[in-house]
Amino acid sequence: MFAGVEAGGTKFVCAVGRNPEDIESLIEIPTSDPASTIRAAADFFRSFDQSRRRLAGLGIGSFGPLDLDPGSPRFGQITTTPKPGWQNVDMLAEFRTALELPTVVETDVNAAAFGEWVWGSGQGLAHFLYVTVGTGVGVGALVDGKLLHGEHHPEMGHMYLPLSPNEPDSFAGICPFHQGCVEGLASGEAIMKRWNTKLCDLPDDHPANELEADYLATFFSNMTFVLQPQKIIVGGGVMNERLLQSTREKLLKKIGGYRASLGNRSAIDDYLVMPGLENRAGVLGAIALARRNS
Ligand code: ZN
Repeated sequence: MFAGVEAGGTKFVCAVGRNPEDIESLIEIPTSDPASTIRAAADFFRSFDQSRRRLAGLGIGSFGPLDLDPGSPRFGQITTTPKPGWQNVDMLAEFRTALELPTVVETDVNAAAFGEWVWGSGQGLAHFLYVTVGTGVGVGALVDGKLLHGEHHPEMGHMYLPLSPNEPDSFAGICPFHQGCVEGLASGEAIMKRWNTKLCDLPDDHPANELEADYLATFFSNMTFVLQPQKIIVGGGVMNERLLQSTREKLLKKIGGYRASLGNRSAIDDYLVMPGLENRAGVLGAIALARRNS
């Protein structure tokens, strides 16, 4: 049995199991201050297995930014997050001390990408992206069969996009660092700021749908040319079937036949897909990482 945590800004999803068909227990803990949130998660894993001998390891997929440089003294720590109280929290050390298990830490989106690789829509691929469009926008990447890291883990959700001429009033994006990056223009928070509601609560003919699909298609077209993935897997609370269809249509046009294998609609339908593990990619990915680490 393995333990997995998807540590998010609003909730910690904790699960114990071996694979998607064999999940023994799963709970969601609202994210409050670091000490009580981590304690509640550790208590869940302990209560599940008092002896602790049956848990072979823990995987953490965490919000960030995280220090994931193996040579850094701060490896496994959250760094500059704007989330109050969570700056410099040592996720790796806190969980390792609390549970005394072999523990591995990754970004939330890289963990989800890994889960999709092992059990979901990324199975058998060597290069793909996992994108979540929710409160923020995050991307995990598998390149040449490895999770992509750099000097610092990639932050593709902060890629600048050209501002649409169809933006209402003087809206220029909500990212506190860049204003009009992907997260600033296409996140759930940007939608909320513009229209005071969620995308799924707006009618089909509302301009918000076209605008969102257009931004996402521009982003995915850019990512296609940067990393040449075999697939882009897109999930998160903002994504839905209607938005997926219109994003595919626009993506086909924006790629413009430049990558020959993506020159028709059915190829795009296979290229831009929803997660096979649905909204459990993150926590299942954490379990898959724990399994690989043990
Ligand atoms: Zn940004």
